[in-house]
Amino acid sequence: MRQVDLLVKAEFLYPVSEGMPIISNGEVAVVGTRIVYAGAAKPADYWDARKILGGPGKIVLPGFVNCHSHSASLIFRSQTDDHSAKAALLDVAFRLEKDVTEEDWSLLGALGCADMLLSGITTINDIWYSPDTLVESVLQSGLRAQIANKIFDVKLHELRNGDYTHYSAIGEARLRHGVEFVEKWHGAADGRITGRIGTHATDTCSSALLKEARDEANRLGVGMHIHAAQSAAEVDQIMAVHGCGPVEYLRDVGLLSNDVVLAHLVFAQDADLDAIVSSNANYAHCPTIYPRRGRYPQFEKIIAKGIKTGFATDWMLNDPFEAMRYAINAMRLRSGSPTAMTCDQALRFHTLGAAEVLGLETEIGSLEIGKKADLIVIDINQAHLQPYYGSYAAFVYYAKASDVVDAVIDGKVVMHERHITGLNHQSTLEQIKERVPTWRSQLSALGSPAVFGPGCDCCGLG
Ligand SMILES: [Zn+2]
Repeated sequence: MRQVDLLVKAEFLYPVSEGMPIISNGEVAVVGTRIVYAGAAKPADYWDARKILGGPGKIVLPGFVNCHSHSASLIFRSQTDDHSAKAALLDVAFRLEKDVTEEDWSLLGALGCADMLLSGITTINDIWYSPDTLVESVLQSGLRAQIANKIFDVKLHELRNGDYTHYSAIGEARLRHGVEFVEKWHGAADGRITGRIGTHATDTCSSALLKEARDEANRLGVGMHIHAAQSAAEVDQIMAVHGCGPVEYLRDVGLLSNDVVLAHLVFAQDADLDAIVSSNANYAHCPTIYPRRGRYPQFEKIIAKGIKTGFATDWMLNDPFEAMRYAINAMRLRSGSPTAMTCDQALRFHTLGAAEVLGLETEIGSLEIGKKADLIVIDINQAHLQPYYGSYAAFVYYAKASDVVDAVIDGKVVMHERHITGLNHQSTLEQIKERVPTWRSQLSALGSPAVFGPGCDCCGLG
């Protein structure tokens, strides 16, 4: 008998390996942090396993990789969903963010980490405020994370007035914070935590700041993370000042490289996409955000150009199952073809594809011998999943995030039967609920049309 630390048994195993095989009656064996076997089940007496997960009625797949996230952004849930990207960012998010306390970001980050794990996400690539508090929740929850401080040098809350004045003191302070974070945390938790330099967007950083940030990323040996061609306002601003598209601009300032993650590309033109191709930069595609803003990126063109692409949740709705379905449906509607994106392709984009975007494809994203053991177990004994025949569509089109019962990261069981072992999820929820009246008041004070509901001062409801 071969001794292993963990054996995960599956009625159907989806390794997301070459050729996308589906293995009926499969299993994954783990020693330490790594997979030593993934394939058809061995005879019953083959393994001597310290711990066993899964079994009949369970399917197993790689944990979802979320290559662009804002874990603590949940404060804006329901406040920007019926608005353009411009209104969501300029009228609501950017004006409130400056008044949110470190304590609140910490609480929201803890909630975000719980939300990720409960949805089957095992890796995040996060850019936001307060990375120092987020990393604490990442450590406790067991998540794998790339984390960047949000760097910019404009007054974000003034952008709605068209004020794009760049302040070097703001940029310098935010960059220094980002650099210090990387210096302190890059490679922590046996490499589970890494850092990035997170310049916020093409229009919220001056050319000088973008160049300095690139230099620092090079010096530190870490990648970069940036929003690009996210909104019409951003594209207009870059065109007005620099006479080109936002990604062309990033190329011209020397930022683009194969270690850069570009989020969104909703308004990217062909010249922008060509700049990505020539630099081998990476693309984080966030399917649930675009339909609600009424505009989908030219995804088929991005793929046809061979740009390395992964799926991500961006903010508020951290549900990879919804992300896969949104993407499939969007692509089929755009093309008029029921095969424009298939379920196995969607799964690959949210696992191995997203791992490639983060430069982690040799470590995670699929269940193969030698890789890190990052996987999830889904309970298929459910009215909405049976009869379960085992194809990709069987879960990509029908499963819910709440069907994920167990999660393993680095070989460690971080969630079992939907209980997150490292986080006090209930306590976080209680504290969040206590904060809602304060946050509602803050949102009301902005005068945002997005704010409504009982107790709201701005609409006469209470
Ligand atoms: Zn984002």
